[in-house]
Amino acid sequence: MPRESLLTDITTGFTSLNRLLDTYHPAAMVVETGAIVSVSTGIAVVSGLPGVGYDELVKFRNGDYGIAFNIDEDEVGVVLLGKSDVLRAGDSVERTGRVMDAPVGDALLGRVVDPIGRPLDGKGAVKSTKRLPIERSARDIMDRSPVNAPLQTGIIAIDALTPIGRGQRELILGDRQTGKTSIAVAAILNSKKENVVCVYCTIGRRASAVANVIAQLAENGAMEYTTVVMAEGDDAPGLMYVAPYAATSIAEQFMEAGRDVLIIYDDLTQHAEAYRTISLLLRRPPGREAFPGDIFYIHSRLLERATHLRKELGGGSLTALPIIETDAQDISAYIPTNLISITDGQIYLSPTLFELEILPAIDVGKSVSRVGGNAQCKAYRAVAGDLKLAYAQFEEMESFARFGTHLDSATQKIVDHGERIRACLKQSEIDRASLNEQICLLLALAKGLFDAVALTDMPGAQNVVRRAAAELPMEIVARFASQKLSDDDSNAILDHLKAAIAKKAVES
Ligand code: ATP
Ligand code: MG
Repeated sequence: MPRESLLTDITTGFTSLNRLLDTYHPAAMVVETGAIVSVSTGIAVVSGLPGVGYDELVKFRNGDYGIAFNIDEDEVGVVLLGKSDVLRAGDSVERTGRVMDAPVGDALLGRVVDPIGRPLDGKGAVKSTKRLPIERSARDIMDRSPVNAPLQTGIIAIDALTPIGRGQRELILGDRQTGKTSIAVAAILNSKKENVVCVYCTIGRRASAVANVIAQLAENGAMEYTTVVMAEGDDAPGLMYVAPYAATSIAEQFMEAGRDVLIIYDDLTQHAEAYRTISLLLRRPPGREAFPGDIFYIHSRLLERATHLRKELGGGSLTALPIIETDAQDISAYIPTNLISITDGQIYLSPTLFELEILPAIDVGKSVSRVGGNAQCKAYRAVAGDLKLAYAQFEEMESFARFGTHLDSATQKIVDHGERIRACLKQSEIDRASLNEQICLLLALAKGLFDAVALTDMPGAQNVVRRAAAELPMEIVARFASQKLSDDDSNAILDHLKAAIAKKAVES
């Protein structure tokens, strides 16, 4: 055979093979149908699906989906994503040949959806053109770059003492009603200035509480850059279990497009409990506190997806703020300790401080950020440096002072100074301090400008300093992000603040 015709035959062969491959669709190849053997709350046992894969979606006759979770030789344990009371033993079940995915992309901004991507806000279907699997592996270590940019929350106690960096995972934990959600909401609201996209994933919370949060976000114009993924308390445990994974895929799409993203999981205690329910129903062996053996793994594989990508990959970041509810301040319970060890730090909210109305009720001693100063901008790091130490000393001395002991003048000075630090760290729920305001407040604290101010006059003095921050010389402000605060700059700011305080004193 001549060489040319042989080559032509081979090329034609390849072309038709390629065409065949193009039309290949795994779902089209799957034609397996089984039947439900039994149904209980949240799960169904199915037989007759010998080819089903782990994590594969299966479809019930009523259109609801489930996930193949336990694969035995003749039966499959399926976690339901819909209601279990509409299913009957004997109903047919189909394989779909795909894993669970969620719609992603800009169409999700401003929307409230369930973990499957169905709208919950009455604004019609989500018009997204892309879907991503909810379970994706975390980025390789070579794709990541160090966390070095701050994510300002506007809450001084966090930005100064437990700073959060873009790409970091910081746990928020505390008893119920200690202000956990409020901190998350403040971080979302402050993201507007920071040009950060937000995903708020709520798991098993009361619908009325979530509605309040959404209303608060909408009122402040934060829904424009936020997606809410919601699994309510009365949803199937399977839906609560998949919610954070779906929300993370939505967030990852923004990150991969080169944006900075903040994701909040409110809260992972409910998530762990939903997973425990599923596991017990599937008769997996219970371990400590009846949680299954892989409870650590399900949270670590979720939080490992938070990262800061290399510049060549777009430089986007995904910052995760998981929330955990503790029981009677027990931070050494199973789930809190797991999450403390997975995350890069924690913000602990104390009910005692909450009762004393020291709000936000952040317990500085028990809160830590393992990324630390790297997540603060240079000028800020210089002024916030000694604050934690001064505050820790104060808290120690304060307990002495409470006994009415006579204090020597040096100790009295530490206590007086500490009380002024505390006054500066107190913030109402709606108050968020900008970077410039925080630098001015912290500089004024560090240089003792407030030490002569009576405690009752502190709110007024802080206001004067914060207002003066808006009038700082532009050339100094321009240097904040890139340079350490020089002595000249710091003196110039101090003079500016002193002048503002003196002017206010003359006026009143
Ligand atoms: P839950 O355990 O129910 O989820 P939570 O720990 O998330 O509660 P929040 O709902 O954030 O707590 O707040 C509890 C209450 O405390 C709310 O009424 C809120 O308005 C109030 N609160 C929170 N932070 C502050 C603050 N900085 N100043 C004043 N009030 C606050
Ligand atoms: Mg809450």
